[in-house]
This record gives sequence, structure tokens and C-alpha cells, in this order.
Amino acid sequence: MRPVVNSRVLSRLEVVATPRTFAIRTFGCQMNEHDSERLAGLLIGDGMVPAASDLEADVVVFNTCTIRENADLKLYSALGQLKQLKEQRPQMQIAVGGCMAQKDRGEILKRAQWVDVVFGTHNLASAPSLLRRSRSEGPLVEVLDAPDPEANREMAPALYAVRELPYAAWMTIQTGCDNSCAYCIVPAVRGGEISRPLRDLVDEATMLASSGVSEITVLGQNVNSYGRDITKRGPLFAQLLRALGEVDGIERIRFVSPHPKDLRPETVAAMAETQAVCNQLHLPLQSGSNRVLSAMRRGYTAERYMERLAGARRGIDDLAVTTDIIVGYPGETDTEFDETLEVAAAAEFDSAYTFIFSPRPGTRAALMVEDFVPEAVIKERFERLKEVLDRSALRKHEARVGRREEVLVEGPSKRNAQMLSGRTRQGKLVHFPVTAEPLRAGALVTLDVVHGAPYHLRGELSSVVRGPRHKIRIPLLSS
Ligand code: SF4
Repeated sequence: MRPVVNSRVLSRLEVVATPRTFAIRTFGCQMNEHDSERLAGLLIGDGMVPAASDLEADVVVFNTCTIRENADLKLYSALGQLKQLKEQRPQMQIAVGGCMAQKDRGEILKRAQWVDVVFGTHNLASAPSLLRRSRSEGPLVEVLDAPDPEANREMAPALYAVRELPYAAWMTIQTGCDNSCAYCIVPAVRGGEISRPLRDLVDEATMLASSGVSEITVLGQNVNSYGRDITKRGPLFAQLLRALGEVDGIERIRFVSPHPKDLRPETVAAMAETQAVCNQLHLPLQSGSNRVLSAMRRGYTAERYMERLAGARRGIDDLAVTTDIIVGYPGETDTEFDETLEVAAAAEFDSAYTFIFSPRPGTRAALMVEDFVPEAVIKERFERLKEVLDRSALRKHEARVGRREEVLVEGPSKRNAQMLSGRTRQGKLVHFPVTAEPLRAGALVTLDVVHGAPYHLRGELSSVVRGPRHKIRIPLLSS
């Protein structure tokens, strides 16, 4: 992530003293990406400025993840690369935060003695002071076992986050998870669910809208259960969607991830009736086999999943559905995998994230060593699943040819300088030719879809609805 920095802040800081510079390396999910944005905001608030590169930074922070494959390996090899640099520049500081820090805590200092600070998932706000203190006190570890619910509820708002995009923002509505999926380390490292007050979230969305943000992605491990811990009336997610939909200037609301077992009719109704909520649902399936789902402790059957999916499609017009599927869960038989193929084909997903099972130390699934599925079998299953998913994605995308879509422009295409890219309300990536009149990121346009491929659409500009809502940052000359 390359933080966007307000140069007005920078030029003011530069005349006071040469500020220390920082770089953040983020591993993992959107939640971590957003934590890094907040961390960048906290470090800037503490007088630091982003470095041009990791190699020049006075402070390098690793925001780690335990979910992805070989997370340990990746972290320790990245730390190893910095060891020599640290020997050449002893003033440089290295900090490790996030899920690996929560899990391994002091172990990190044993394996990489050149690390200065380790902070847990509940200690993000302490990172700047820990970095300051460790300059005189030496290496420090601060990892809270259980989150402080009140402190977590009042997480630093996005005002202090250094957002990557000026027109779109993430908003964390809850931390932790109360479920116990057998393959997942999140409850162990992030703790139980803690929801932020609804009023604070609406205020944050209002503040984001006033700074030019028009799209918000709501983040939580199980967004459906948002608010269950703050009121006896049950989850407040539907109310939250409706309340965010009232915020002037917020035109698009997305969310990840709802849990299929908790997808309630009132959420579907709120999605259908709130203009700003996009017609896109990410509903993780994980497996189509009831035995595997039960072993995973997912709390639903394949039939229940399909019912929920059908209910959502009935209730929400033109809904795009994406999913997550794990291949090769311990003990998964050929027949059980075939059941996953069948459910995946019947569900007709718009796209899917497929994962090869990899054990996370500390989870129940990691202990099922004797049931691990051989790698070659998993690879073959993975390819078969990909075929099914690609087929339905292509069908869905081809069906959009000839339609006019509202697209939020993201900027130049990463692969072709002659093309621009953006997202439809369904969340689909669409490329279209560069226009004679320059179009900036954050502009809203309509496009006619002319081609559908498995992973993207191609379109032609029909009209420009409006330019970007955010102000352009013009670098100020420092005195
Ligand atoms: S719902 Fe399951 S997979 Fe998702 S964070 Fe919670 S425990 Fe992990």
C-alpha cells in the first residue's frame, strides 16, 4: 500500500524538524489493509512522514497476517532481508504488528533479535508511543490478550487514516469473531466480536463523504452479527445499512463478509431498499458437502446455503454473488468434493476466491494431520473447480453484453495504457478506452458493455455522470 499523503501536513512538519520516515508492509486481508491506513494516520499524527521506499525508511512496520499460506515464512524472510540494513543503520526501527504478532508475541524477538517493537492486534493505537519508547528502552512487546471493548469501540476514526484512494474508503464496523470455524485462527488472534457504535459509524461516513468519498466498503469478520454485542435487540446490520444509505454523498456501499448462517431477511430487505447499497453479495460457501461443512463448524448445510442464496436473489434485483471455497479440507473425499462442484455449478457465482487448504497452527483443522489430502489430489480438484467457476463467471459476464452500467472510474488500466478501469455497481471490473477528454479516478460514468470475459468486462463510454467528488491535492512548495 502506498499511502496518499496530504502535502499541506508535510510542509508544516518539515519546517519544524526533519521528521522520521516510515514504511508499512501489509500482509493479508482488507481488514489489515485498513489497519495499515489507520496506522499510517497514527504515525503521521506522531510527526512521521512516509518514506520514499522501505529501504530508506527510519521505521519499517510489518502488519502481519496468519491466514495466508506460509505466513511465518514470509514474515521471517522479510525480517531477514532487513537485518543487514539495520546493522548498517542502527537508528532504523523495525516493528511487527497484526495477527502474527498477536500469536507469536515474544517469540518474534527470539527469532529476529533486530526487531524493536512487537504490538498485538488490540494495541495498534500504542504503536507510535512504543516506537518512541523503544528508542531509549530497547525492544518492547505489547500484546493485550483480550481486547478492551470500550477502546475497540472507539477505534481511531478514518479521519486519522491515510487512505489509499480519495474517492473510496474502508470502514471497520466490528473487530473479532464469535464463531469457531475449525480452520480459522481469527477468533484466537482477534478475540470476540466488538461492534463500534452505530452513531460513530454514521459520523465517520458523513466525514468521509464531506472529504469526497463516494464509496464505502464496510468491513467485519461477520458483518451480519454487527451490533449483537451492544444491544439485546439483536444484530443491527440492516439498520446500519439503512443509516449509511442516508448519508449525503455516499453513493455506493459494499460489505464483506456476511456469514451465510446469519444472513437475515431484514438484511436482504435493507439491501434491496437502500439505493446506495450495491447489488453485490459476497457469501462464503467454503464447501458443498454437508459432512465437510459440519467438520468445518460452519453452522449451515449446503441446502440452507442455497435457500439463503435464493432468498437474496429473489429480494435483490440483478444481484451479483461471489464466494470463497476451500479445496482439500482434511478428510474431504472425492464424493464430497463432487458435491462442492455440484453446489458451485448450481449457485452460478459471478466469481469466486478459491483456496487450497493449508493448516494454520493453533486451529483444530491443523491437528487433523492424518486426514490431510495429498497435494496432487488437491491440485487436480482445484483445477476442476476453477473450470466450473470460470464457466459460470463467463456466462454471467457475457449476459451483461449490451447493457448500460454505471461505473466508478479507478484510473488507468494496470495492463494497457490505452484503457481505463472502473467498477460497476455489481463490483465487476470493467475496462474501457481512454477518452479524448481526460477522466479522473473517482468520476462516475455510464458504459455500454461490449465484451464479457471470465474476470472482467469491456465497455465503451456512454456518458459522464459527474467528475470526482474529492478535491485534487496540489503539492505545496515547502518554504
Ligand atoms: S466466521 Fe469463521 S472463518 Fe470467518 S472469521 Fe469467524 S471463525 Fe474465521
